[in-house]
Amino acid sequence: MHNTSMDCIFCKIIARKIPSDIVYEDDDVLAILDIAPINPGHTLVIPKRHVRDLLDVSPEAAAKVISVAQRIAPALLKVTGAPAFNCSINNGPASGQVVMHLHVHVIPRHPSDGLISWVHGKYEPGESAALAQRIVAAMAVMPKV
Ligand code: 5GP
Ligand code: ZN
Repeated sequence: MHNTSMDCIFCKIIARKIPSDIVYEDDDVLAILDIAPINPGHTLVIPKRHVRDLLDVSPEAAAKVISVAQRIAPALLKVTGAPAFNCSINNGPASGQVVMHLHVHVIPRHPSDGLISWVHGKYEPGESAALAQRIVAAMAVMPKV
C-alpha cells in the first residue's frame, strides 16, 4: 500500500477514485495525460507514493519517475509528430506547482509553438562567481540526499 493523502487529486487518480487517461503504470509509477494540456500528449509522470516535490522524494523513487519519463517521451514524439519535448518539475507554489504531489511534466514541443518562453536576465561582473561560491558552500554543509 502506498502512502496517500486524502485530499490529493493525484492520490485519488492513482486509487482510481477519479478517472484519467493512463499511458503507463507499474508498481511505483503512474503516467497520465494532463487534463489541460499545454500541447496534445502532455503527460504527467507521478510516483504512486505521495511526496510533495523533488525535495521530498528519495533519489531511488525520483530515478524511477525519470526513467519512466525517458520511456514515454519517444512514444509521445512518435504519436504527436513533435520533434522535441520539455521535461519539467514545478517545486512549490511560486514555481507554478498547483498539485502538491510530485509529478514530471513531459510536454511535446513543436517549432515556433510559442510556448514556455523564458525571459533571461544578466549578472553584474563578479556576481555569478560569487553566487556560485555561496551555493558550493551551502551544499558543503547540507546532508547528502
Ligand atoms: P503543476 O502546476 O502542479 O506542476 O501541474 C499540475 C497539472 O495537473 C496541471 O498541468 C493540470 O492541468 C493537471 N491536472 C490537474 N488536475 C487534474 C486532473 O484531475 N486530471 C489530470 N489528468 N490532470 C490534472
Ligand atoms: Zn498525492
